[in-house]
Amino acid sequence: MKCYIAFLAHETNSFSPIPTDRPSFDEIGVYLPALGPPEEHLDLLKGAVDFYREALRHGDEAVVGLCALAQPSLPCLERDYVQLREEILDGLRAAMPVDMVLLMMHGSMMAQGCDDCEGDVLERVRAMVGPRVPIGLLLDLHCNVTAKMIANATVIKACREYPHTDFPERAREVYELVAATAAGRIRPAMAFRRAPMLGLFQTQREPMRGLVDRVAQEERKPGVLAVTLAHGFPWGDSAHTGAGVIAITNDDEPRARELAGSIARDFFALRESGQVTLLGVSAALDAALEHRSGTVIVADMSDNPGGGAASDSTFLLRAMLERGVRDAAVGLLWDPLAVRLAFAAGEGATIPMRIGGKLGPMSGEPLDVVATVRHLRSSATQPHIADGGAAALGRTAVIETQGVEIVMNEIRQQPFHPDAFRSAGVDPWSKRLVVVKSSFHFYAGFAERAAAIVYCDGPGTLNSDARTRPYRHVERPIWPLDDVAL
Ligand SMILES: [Zn+2]
Repeated sequence: MKCYIAFLAHETNSFSPIPTDRPSFDEIGVYLPALGPPEEHLDLLKGAVDFYREALRHGDEAVVGLCALAQPSLPCLERDYVQLREEILDGLRAAMPVDMVLLMMHGSMMAQGCDDCEGDVLERVRAMVGPRVPIGLLLDLHCNVTAKMIANATVIKACREYPHTDFPERAREVYELVAATAAGRIRPAMAFRRAPMLGLFQTQREPMRGLVDRVAQEERKPGVLAVTLAHGFPWGDSAHTGAGVIAITNDDEPRARELAGSIARDFFALRESGQVTLLGVSAALDAALEHRSGTVIVADMSDNPGGGAASDSTFLLRAMLERGVRDAAVGLLWDPLAVRLAFAAGEGATIPMRIGGKLGPMSGEPLDVVATVRHLRSSATQPHIADGGAAALGRTAVIETQGVEIVMNEIRQQPFHPDAFRSAGVDPWSKRLVVVKSSFHFYAGFAERAAAIVYCDGPGTLNSDARTRPYRHVERPIWPLDDVAL
């Protein structure tokens, strides 16, 4: 069989201070067929590499089109989104006829003039391949599912774990279902039920763990093909924003609807208990400093670039310096200008520097410090959480001020792994306290050796209180903005 594979991912944050255009994708690396065969550019395929490997394993013919990813930020410039979309469609047109299509997208991408990029791409792909060619769509669980996605895809699944460590398994499952559909062995019937809530649900801990495990059991029941918890992406302001459940059965739509409905009610019941305990800046530092041995990780959730924040906020760092916290590290502070100045000053130089606080009120005030440039690296990387491939951090500069080492970098990205620090020259485990500008994705790489993890919910773009966000398009009622029952 012949399959067409493409990848386009952007988690759009309507409240981010950062615009999105084509260079936002190019910075991370875009694959296009014109570059040459996919096997020579596996790193550029990103998550689509899992589909590609499945195709090879099945002995299928795989044509890979555009593979592009940008860090979360504002809706994409319309002209550049249309170009990305047309690159996906051009690749498909050139590959036609195909027996199946496999798309990996984020599920909450918006562009100027389009609040459902996934649905828009799917609708055009469907129009091109016709009603009989199965289309599989793999999403991030932070997806805001739309009717257009459900109407135009044959099979939709999202990753199950947050942190997202399970994309390869989910890609395999989507591939199997799509291949079985193409071969006429199954007839997927898909239903979606909205769970009207805005939240972040970490799946490592109860009660979410139990629900995720139960969903996996449901999937193994006869006649059930897939069940997905769509957590929603609360910082995207669209009519589709919010959580929900997708259920797929074999040719039994009433059962798919019933299953999606009952699991959506169970998911909704966890809207409060499913959230982690969050502390303000001062309380988070109190909690971290209580520990006398080992390395305590403080998650600076509000400034997570992986959700659309600038990653240059100073609220936590300023409080640390004011309290005289020493033997600490902070990363990754996105400050390309300060990195450039540190490079110009050279390793070992001690200079006055103005760092962070540049992107707007959600970044706090810039910090004026006297800093010593400790380490400069021309191309630091870390293993990506989804596929373990090398994720570029750009140039990094580690500066030290008052006993705090600050890892600054050029390519905005959250630390997934201790190597984000090591690659820049800092051993995080030699520190008493390490601040990671991440919500939960750091967890997979740091939890095992951390003496404790403290979740800090300070001021910032990704502050957890949905009631403070100036939503204009979210469908009401929705928890916690409204009192709502399901
Ligand atoms: Zn996600």
